Amino acid sequence: MEATAIETERPATRHQQQTPRPGRCDLSVVAPVHNEEENLRELHKQLTEALAPTGLDYELILVDDGSTDTSLSILRELAQSDPRVTVLELRRNFGQTAAMAAGIDNTRGDVIVPIDADLQNDPADIPKLLDVLNGEPRYDIVSGWRKKRQDKLFSRRVPSIIANKIIRSLTNVPIHDFGCTLKAYRREVLEDVSLSSDLHRFLPALAAWHGAKITEMVANHRPRTAGVTKYGLWRTVRVVLDLIIVRFLGTYMTKPLYFFGRLGILSFGSALVVLGVAVAQKFGWFWQPEGLHLNRNILVSLSALMAFFTVQCVMFGILAELLVRVYHDRQGRRIYRIREVIRQGDDESNS
Ligand code: UDP
Ligand code: MG
Repeated sequence: MEATAIETERPATRHQQQTPRPGRCDLSVVAPVHNEEENLRELHKQLTEALAPTGLDYELILVDDGSTDTSLSILRELAQSDPRVTVLELRRNFGQTAAMAAGIDNTRGDVIVPIDADLQNDPADIPKLLDVLNGEPRYDIVSGWRKKRQDKLFSRRVPSIIANKIIRSLTNVPIHDFGCTLKAYRREVLEDVSLSSDLHRFLPALAAWHGAKITEMVANHRPRTAGVTKYGLWRTVRVVLDLIIVRFLGTYMTKPLYFFGRLGILSFGSALVVLGVAVAQKFGWFWQPEGLHLNRNILVSLSALMAFFTVQCVMFGILAELLVRVYHDRQGRRIYRIREVIRQGDDESNS
């Protein structure tokens, strides 16, 4: 009898890991987990202590990102003992952003709060984040700010300060700490943005380009007491590379032809100038008092090359434009986002 009970239970749990349970809840907390065996029970305890008193209908989505220690079995235990816990087991270590994306895809909360599993973020901050989110004015994203960050100075804090400054000025999103995992998102704003690479730190920027209203709140940050950090200085390089693609997505995703067109016009202009110089040199100007035949002048080739590049740019722009259209059409994505539709008779259904 027991064996059949186990048999019937297993596929059910598997299924839950693929798709979120039906129905909505108020809050989903998502934690990516990679080798955090010593932290998980305490994380669950602190999350429960912080969230139970709020009276919210919440769920905890814990994503095992290919842990090689006993994290997964501890997560299983937690899922057994607490119906609010859902564990997703990834097939291998996909990285923090992928783990977060998997978690977020499987949430059903109206508000989604990612948090690190290593206890560096303080679960007690979650209710405060929610207060700010639902306060006046109503925000779409509240970002945690690790004002007193408890990490190594030179390998972590200094690069982070510089990276944050660059991101802030390039994205025009006025928050201090893009890297802080602890943030509160309204579900709608996450449905629009897709995650890839290390882009989780750019979620606020991506969401802002879709029109999300963003603010920040100083959050507690604690030193890591168990387990080890998975990152070093190399991450800063990856952040900068990601920034380039984010910037591109934000500005040119809807109009790539403008980008390539601008490049094309620039090279066409240069081609004309260079050709002009070559022609002038034929008549003895520009350091060529004897006059230089056009067929002997390297500038003519340069000019031809630039003209060719112009054609390439325009063609490339058109191709990119077609791709973007396919992307938007296929996925049903729109190039605009509506915050709310207001019309007579809708009041009751909205509130
Ligand atoms: N993490 C993950 N997959 C990875 C690396 C990290 O799920 O490949 C998780 C890790 O378990 C932790 C969070 O991401 O919960 C943040 O990682 P870490 O504490 O190492 O980063 P730091 O706080 O040092 O920036
Ligand atoms: Mg950490």
